[in-house]
Order: sequence, then C-alpha cells, then structure tokens
Amino acid sequence: MCHCGLPQPFADCCGRFVSRAIDAPDAQSLMRSRYSAFCEQAIDYLCFTCSEKALEQNPREEVAEFAQAAHFVRLHIMDYEPGDALAYVEFKAFYIIADTLHCIHERSQFIQQHHQWKYDSGQLFEAADVKLRRNDPCPCLSGNKFKKCCMS
Ligand SMILES: [Zn+2]
Ligand SMILES: [Zn+2]
Repeated sequence: MCHCGLPQPFADCCGRFVSRAIDAPDAQSLMRSRYSAFCEQAIDYLCFTCSEKALEQNPREEVAEFAQAAHFVRLHIMDYEPGDALAYVEFKAFYIIADTLHCIHERSQFIQQHHQWKYDSGQLFEAADVKLRRNDPCPCLSGNKFKKCCMS
C-alpha cells in the first residue's frame, strides 16, 4: 500500500511523481504525492510542488523541520473539485508527534502552471489533538497497539 492509502506500492503510485519520473496528472494526485513526500521526507519535491506564494509562506527549513518531527500515519481525502487552472482538495492528514495525534484538516487550492500542478494555499479547519495511550489501537490502522507500532 502507498503512504497515501491507495492499494498500489509507493513506487507505482506517488513514488512516480515524487521521483519526478512523471508529473502528477491532476491536483488530487499531486496532493496525495505531497502527503507521501512528507512521509519520505522528500523536501525537494515538497518545494518543487509549491507555487511561489506557497513557498514564501512555507519556507524550506520549516517544511524540512516539520517533515522530520511529524510521523504521518493516515490521509483521508474528503472532497475534490477538479478544474483546468484551479482545483481544490479537502483532506485530513493525521500525524503523530511524541504521544499526540494531530490532524491537519485543510481545503487546499492548487493551480496549474506550465502543465504542472502546484500547491498554492490552504484554508485550515479546526481539528482536535488526541493524546495516545500505549495500549490504544495505533492510529495508522495497522491493527497493532500504539506501543508496538508507531510509538517512538
Ligand atoms: Zn500514493
Ligand atoms: Zn502504527
């Protein structure tokens, strides 16, 4: 299974985009590949897939620091509004830092520039943090207890 939740292995799914072998054909694929890039700490790709505006707001060092600190466990695409120049993806991305499960709930705007989709901006929704206990089922949905799985 790919990091993004689709059944193919990473190499046949988001890996093709993250390695830059081919361009993501639409905003949803790009969004999935950016999530997977966080899992792989592919910082070059995360910067490459930002518009200029998004790069200004998400400087490389901050993106790198966040990718290193956060252990991403799950992506849930909630809505996708395709378009020619503009497209929107609403998603929830779950990640663990220390013993807390955090959620980014965002409606992202993507723009197409020179046949490449770029992340441009996002509208954040409030999402609650959850304290994880050792014996909780792991939020990555592996079926294992947190302490035997994603607990660092
Ligand atoms: Zn994928
Ligand atoms: Zn886990």
